[in-house]
Amino acid sequence: MKYEVVIGLEIHLELQTQSKLFCGCSTAFGREPNTNCCPLCLGLPGSLPVFNRKAIELAVTAALALNSSIQLKSRFDRKNYFYPDLPKAYQVSQYDQPLARGGCLEIEFEGSRKHVNLERIHLEEEAGKLIHAGDSILGADYTLVDYNRAGIPLLEIVTTPELCSGREARLFLEDLRLVLLYCGVSDCKMEEGSLRCDANISLRSTGSRELGTKAEVKNMNSFRSVEQALDYEAERQEAILSAGDSVIQETCHWDEEKKVTVPLRGKEGSSDYRYFPEPDLLPLVLQSSFVESLAAALPELPYERRLRLQEQYQLAKKEAFLLTENRELGDFFESVARQYEDYRSLINWVQGDLLYQLHESGKHAKEIEPRLLIELLLLVDKGIINRPVAKDLLTEMIKTGESPQKMVQERGIEQISGRDKLLPIVEQVVNENPEAVKNFHRGKKKALAFLVGKVMASTGGRADPNELNQLLKEKLIKKRTGGRMKD
Ligand SMILES: [Zn+2]
Repeated sequence: MKYEVVIGLEIHLELQTQSKLFCGCSTAFGREPNTNCCPLCLGLPGSLPVFNRKAIELAVTAALALNSSIQLKSRFDRKNYFYPDLPKAYQVSQYDQPLARGGCLEIEFEGSRKHVNLERIHLEEEAGKLIHAGDSILGADYTLVDYNRAGIPLLEIVTTPELCSGREARLFLEDLRLVLLYCGVSDCKMEEGSLRCDANISLRSTGSRELGTKAEVKNMNSFRSVEQALDYEAERQEAILSAGDSVIQETCHWDEEKKVTVPLRGKEGSSDYRYFPEPDLLPLVLQSSFVESLAAALPELPYERRLRLQEQYQLAKKEAFLLTENRELGDFFESVARQYEDYRSLINWVQGDLLYQLHESGKHAKEIEPRLLIELLLLVDKGIINRPVAKDLLTEMIKTGESPQKMVQERGIEQISGRDKLLPIVEQVVNENPEAVKNFHRGKKKALAFLVGKVMASTGGRADPNELNQLLKEKLIKKRTGGRMKD
């Protein structure tokens, strides 16, 4: 390819605090518009901001988890712009002295690992929400504003421009989300807007070190739309450059319906915001002991968990990924594994039938009691029930929470095993199906399966499958040799 794509991301994350960044208003989602507001977050004159300690703790925790270097002294600034979602006509943000600098996240892309570096992480306040009457911001008749979100603590994470495709940007975001979820700093819901992503994207001649003119893409509301929008924008710019024209620096809006980027306005440079230090707040000075205590309290992070799971339970990489991405399922697996040592059998049940049944029933792993699965697995291991019966019981156990042991006792569905019990049934089936016996002797493999099915049917699916197979074969061979084989 003649050009290479260069993408940098700006991620905005709503921190999971009870109250806003500088006032005591609630951050609860989905309330009546303009009910979580006070003079401060409405920008009324004379109100003064007060730091939310929890927001600072969460911001530092996130920065530590991303290997970013915490600046013990940082400062807040006013970012001035006039827009109806901003009641004060400025946003309190951090400009040249952010909370943290640098950092990185390692992602796995097409089998190889890549370090994605971060430029900075800073704290700022959320704006209000505009609700446009009509399909989109373009061509709306009027717009309503809700200030419930104005003043919610936001963390902005800026990557260096080194992602090189929509796919890579998406993978980075997904991994970032997992890290942030693990440290409990945000619920990271893209659909509710608590995790948002804007991207700067430009093209440059392959091998060149200089960056091309970039466009900023906004309004990507899912991981999939990040990938689609960036791939679309890369193609658009490539067409412009290939035709000998130049890309204009601008802000674009991703149109989810039409799957195109639409220019919104010329892109502001930072000088347009007339940043200046926020006079109502002192610089933020952190004690190193405060940072150290948060570092010590960091939970196990996704990549650490993956490695540990692989090692501790001899899991394949793919299996460890599943149990990390689906954290609840991983927790469930581990609480069963503490009391059940056949990890191979356990993971097969968990990633197979259990996961399937959870999807089917719309239940979550945390709703299932680990002891129930242990009971079920032990029933199989002891040969009391066979696998097909166990699968049925698993389905019911997930639906009703009933004990498998109890279901077995009440219903008399123990496995039928042992020569004494199985042989008479096998003999009867063989005598009743001479055609199938003949077919078997002619070498038709299906005939055996047919006879197994007959025995299963007459035992209500309870026959021990291994033993049954063996007995049937024995019986059929004996029949052929006229019963001259010894028992
Ligand atoms: Zn308020």
